[in-house]
Amino acid sequence: RIALIYIVTPTYTRPSQKVDLTTRLSHAFQLAQGIHWIVVEDSDHKTTLVANLLSRTGLPYTHLHIPTPGHMKRQPHEKPWAKPRGVLQRNEGLRWLREELQSSNNLDGFLYFADDDNGYDLELFDEIRIIKRVGVWPVAFVGEVMVEKPLLKDGKIVGWDVAIKPEREFAVDMAGFAVSVKLLMDHPEAKFDFDQPPGYQETYFLKGLGLKKEDMEPKAKNCTQVLVWHTKTKEPVLIQEKILNRKGKHTDEGMEV
Ligand code: UDP
Ligand code: MN
Repeated sequence: RIALIYIVTPTYTRPSQKVDLTTRLSHAFQLAQGIHWIVVEDSDHKTTLVANLLSRTGLPYTHLHIPTPGHMKRQPHEKPWAKPRGVLQRNEGLRWLREELQSSNNLDGFLYFADDDNGYDLELFDEIRIIKRVGVWPVAFVGEVMVEKPLLKDGKIVGWDVAIKPEREFAVDMAGFAVSVKLLMDHPEAKFDFDQPPGYQETYFLKGLGLKKEDMEPKAKNCTQVLVWHTKTKEPVLIQEKILNRKGKHTDEGMEV
């Protein structure tokens, strides 16, 4: 039996939510196999849109929700990186996973955080399955460069080839690492924290797991391959829709988009 990969995905309501979750994530996860998908909605309730798409995937999944309070949300005048996103949702996923693993005698699995608009190569999941404690790899289109990647010397990770904040202890994007669930259970306090400086969520979490740079296991052909892309879905233009809505017409009346 193959070891499970628990994938935690924070998600929030927007026009492209269904197509992102379905075609960018669930289809890849279905083909990868051995995945348990933990989807955490940034909402005060579980939406039927997400419930419907999850049940259609045929994947083992857990559907959770926790809202981000207003004061933790980015205001229109703030920079995109001013406030971290998905923090409470990832922590809620961790809470569920630890509780689940507490009552199981199988700690052979892995944990990966998959944001809901990235692109995932199937080979990424093969790389995750050979991790001992923590694996890292390149991520494309993040940190305002083509590829952010770990720096290697003699097959060991010695630093980070990134343009923004290279001084971070772990200058790796959320999509650029995975850990064993054994490590997660050995450090029950490790989580994300809203009050960290911008860009420090990953470093804070990995330090919480008691990790050092020397512990990092380079994956994806010694960090020479791109298996995950930090893509962003363009917001659809809905100017005409809004005009119609004011007249009481909704083009998606009776349809789930
Ligand atoms: N997210 C969320 N609530 C929000 C905004 C974002 O739960 O108000 C989730 C989003 O669905 C994604 C993750 O947090 O899975 C990262 O957000 P996003 O992709 O917008 O940020 P990026 O890092 O790509 O700029
Ligand atoms: Mn994103």
